[in-house]
Formats: sequence, structure tokens, C-alpha cells
Amino acid sequence: MTEDGDTIAERKMRFLYALRSRGITDGRVLTAMERVDRGAFVKGLFAERAYEDTPLPIACGQTISQPSVVALMTQALSIQPRDRVLEVGTGSGYQAAVLAQLARRVYTIDRHRRLVREAEDIFRLLDLSNITAFTGDGSHGLPDQAPFDRILVTAAAEDPPGPLMAQLKVGGVMVVPVGQTDTVQTLIKVVRTDDGFEYEELRSVRFVPLVEGMASE
Ligand code: SAH
Repeated sequence: MTEDGDTIAERKMRFLYALRSRGITDGRVLTAMERVDRGAFVKGLFAERAYEDTPLPIACGQTISQPSVVALMTQALSIQPRDRVLEVGTGSGYQAAVLAQLARRVYTIDRHRRLVREAEDIFRLLDLSNITAFTGDGSHGLPDQAPFDRILVTAAAEDPPGPLMAQLKVGGVMVVPVGQTDTVQTLIKVVRTDDGFEYEELRSVRFVPLVEGMASE
């Protein structure tokens, strides 16, 4: 029981209900969201609020995204079971854990070494052996592991980064928030076709900026 008198199970049920009411209809995505305990990725003061549909602060001045946005981005990627997926912006590791329920392999990269280490500890604890985490500047992608079937960027860029576009397979999908970093951004879906790229605007979002280079911790 919590202070409000509801159990964790009740909170989790409300969490899934909130996702459905926000337009998440893909059963596989809902199952993935149900399987991954967001509580494992939120520490300290904010742990109490892990099952609320809100972004929360994590280490290094970053944020764990709002669950309905995590679900929407995952749904927009329409991941197939054999897919290799790249996530730029590991943060807490929560989004990578959700992707790992649906894909064959997930590569995730963050510019903060500390966040990558902490996320790796949780992946190990939860037995998520199909995630590989890297520290580095993800705006260059991961040339050694490319090309990818799906790419998800969880930090806002002014434009979809060129190296990431180049590392997307034909038929592949990338989801990325774009726009001026401090204002509202637009989440866009990019599909690579035989002769170019197709773009679709999904909704307004607000993410921390994609920053060049490695961070100091
Ligand atoms: N997906 C995360 C939330 C990401 S917050 C989760 O599920 O918790 C955005 C993350 O992008 C931050 O951790 C930030 O350090 C990272 N980031 C910003 N610019 C980056 C870059 N160029 N390369 C890699 N990671 C970057």
C-alpha cells in the first residue's frame, strides 16, 4: 500500500489504462509496456511517481520520457521481431527496455558514461540480454553496427542527423523529435524508400536537446 492507499498493482493498471486512452492501440506495444517496470528505472525522490504519465528527472540533468510518449514512439516504429534497432539517448534505459521486448537486438548510446553504466546494471538485473549499450556521441550513429531496421532518437535535433539517415536500411523507419531545442518540437517519422525518404509529422513533443560530443561524466 502507498500513502494514497492504492497498491502498486492498481497503479500499474491505471498506467496501462492511461496509455490506451492516449491512443496506444497496438497490443504488442501495450504488452511490452506492461512487462517493463518503469519503477526499476526511476530512483530516489521520484520513484513514488514512476507510474504517472509524466516525464521525471534522472541523473546528469536528463529526463526519463513520459510513458505515453515512449509508447507512441514505439508504436510508430512498428518493430518486427527480427529487427535490429538503434536508440540514441539511453537516459534511464527505460525506452531501450521497451524496445528490447519487440526487437531481436537493441543498440543504445548516450553521451553520459554514468547513465550508460546505470542503465547497463538495470538491464543485467532484468535479464535483458539483447541490449548493447555504448557511451559516445550518438548523432554519428554506430557505423560498425549499421545498417539498422529502426532508429529512435530520444533527444531533439534541429534536423534528422545525416549519419543516422545514412544508417537506416531501405524500408527502415526512424522516429525523431525535430525543432528548435528549447521550444516545442515535432515528432517525425522518416521512412527510407528505394529512392529517398518520406516524412510524416506525428505530434508535438518536448525533449532535452541532442548535444554534440561526449559529456564529462
Ligand atoms: N530514452 C531515455 C530518455 C532520454 S533523455 C529514457 O528512456 O530514459 C535524452 C538523452 O539523450 C539524455 O540521456 C542525453 O544524455 C542523451 N543525449 C543527448 N545528446 C546526445 C548525443 N549526441 N549522443 C548520445 N546521447 C545524447
